[in-house]
Amino acid sequence: MASVNGGKILVAEDNIINQILAEDLLTQAGFEVVIAENGKKAVELVEAVKFDLILMDLQMPEMDGFEATRIILETQPGQHPPIIAMTANALTRDRERCIGAGMVDHIAKPIDPDVLFDTLLKWIPDGDAGPNSIESNSIESNTTDDAFVCLAGIDIDAGLARMNGSQELYTTVLKQFFQDHSTDDQIIARAISQNDIPLAQRTAHTLKGVSGGIGAKALYDSAQNVETAIKDDQLDRLEPFMESLTRELSLVVKDLEEKIMAQALGGTEEIRHSAIDMEKLQRLMNDFERMAREMDPDMDGKAKQIHRLLERHDSPLKKISGTLWGFAEDFDFKQALGTLEELKCELDR
Ligand code: MN
Repeated sequence: MASVNGGKILVAEDNIINQILAEDLLTQAGFEVVIAENGKKAVELVEAVKFDLILMDLQMPEMDGFEATRIILETQPGQHPPIIAMTANALTRDRERCIGAGMVDHIAKPIDPDVLFDTLLKWIPDGDAGPNSIESNSIESNTTDDAFVCLAGIDIDAGLARMNGSQELYTTVLKQFFQDHSTDDQIIARAISQNDIPLAQRTAHTLKGVSGGIGAKALYDSAQNVETAIKDDQLDRLEPFMESLTRELSLVVKDLEEKIMAQALGGTEEIRHSAIDMEKLQRLMNDFERMAREMDPDMDGKAKQIHRLLERHDSPLKKISGTLWGFAEDFDFKQALGTLEELKCELDR
């Protein structure tokens, strides 16, 4: 890609999923990418290699992004590449703190490819490439017509958008999520019982970030609640948050295991729902969704009707509707809504 002219970008980021994502997006755009998994490594690399820009995560083990920025500014006054912060919070306060620390800009995680490229355009030194040489639209979207597999608790459209539409990259990231985060709830619980509060907080923080990245919204919320309670030193409030974290995580993990890790057919399975009265099913699902959002305890009756309808037609989706009914009976509203998402997604194909 002649327009970019080989800019070299250092990505300081401890989260492996964000590493994969940033590297893929930037490499595709013609940049050379070097990854540092903590601030200390970033400082060492900046001393040894000339970079055109640094993307700096703020929360990293060993040395965080603020400390790394401070050292880079101190050792290379006026000569260091522009440093752009990547943070999980899009708050003005964070932005101001980053600017105050000497970073030139700030992008929110999970990274939106368009925002990333707009920001790079602003800060990459022109060099030989000339101004405006990186066009966001030079990054081709990888969107294909094949539907991605439906996943409980995950908004796959949101997740895919973060991967620039690449199903292949999304699959890689989901597999990585499964491998690295399946038992994060247990890690947090154990850390708390052993009074290792920093580990508990860091694990919740990372889980929050990657959940947002893959489109697992309810899990993101749960992880955020846990992180906040730990950060605010309100461990006595933690139990319900932890319970919901475990539920959200197991919903996501179970489906990833069955559909992504096994890679069974990759969503090619033909689903027969022609014989079903779709209008009726749609109505039942709409009613159910409304009831679940209103936390109506009678929602299990609707779930039962949905399940019976699919069962009667021996639809392959009866497994999902059975799960839905189970959650409805347990008054587990969030899980029920997550499962309804999956059902709707399957019916859409
Ligand atoms: Mn981090």
